[in-house]
Amino acid sequence: ARKPMMAGNWKMNNAIGEAVVLTQEISNNWWKDWEDKVDVVICPPFVDLKPVKTVLEFDKTKIFVGAQNVYWEEAGAFTGEVSVPMIRECGCDYCIVGHSERRGLFGETNEDVNKKVRALLGGRLKPIVCVGESLAVRDEGTTNEYVCAQVKAAFAGVDADDAAKCVVAYEPIWAIGTGRTATPEQAEEVCAAVRAQLAVLFGEETAQAMRILYGGSMNPGNVDALVAEPDIDGGLIGGASLKCDSFIQLVKAVM
Ligand code: 13P
Repeated sequence: ARKPMMAGNWKMNNAIGEAVVLTQEISNNWWKDWEDKVDVVICPPFVDLKPVKTVLEFDKTKIFVGAQNVYWEEAGAFTGEVSVPMIRECGCDYCIVGHSERRGLFGETNEDVNKKVRALLGGRLKPIVCVGESLAVRDEGTTNEYVCAQVKAAFAGVDADDAAKCVVAYEPIWAIGTGRTATPEQAEEVCAAVRAQLAVLFGEETAQAMRILYGGSMNPGNVDALVAEPDIDGGLIGGASLKCDSFIQLVKAVM
């Protein structure tokens, strides 16, 4: 059985002071026996990574930290970018890659996503690879093909051993921050197609071991029905991860 994951994507929210307070609140709600049942990941802005990790280490709380983006080169003249060794030094185990906001607002291509995935794996970090269709693609009826092509491109040149360390997050763009969640049936259909694509790429055993998350207006009211689906192993949470109460409710829902 796959271990569920609940990951909070804070996006561009919470400066250091707020980040420390929210992490302390989440940490205070943490119980030791949870670590066997669920992997919890907090993905704050770069500047918060070290402070958040420091709070978790101080509390001895087994919550993972992830970055929201990374650059594929190790160091050099790349003004404004942050490398894999840098986020690893901040205590990251995970990194979100290819979020639709990065693809849509910052022009990230499938090729960029693939370079980031390979750089992270090379640096012993685990990518959380985001895929998902726009409303236009959904209305055309080509969602599964579109999302599977994103998966194939993201994992080009990655072998099964490395793929097994990765997480895929299916986030339909029309459901992000809109309050309009995919129905459990809609989300399951795409997540099952993603798993079938992973099986083609890496074999059935690896595909069955990999976690696939749903993201897009997931909240304490709709989480149960979504994670009851066989191919949905947890969530990537935006808005509802910014409050301790709702985030902890989401964590409890997958245990
Ligand atoms: P919301 O949960 O705010 O819809 O955001 C989802 C998301 O994009 C997580 O990466």
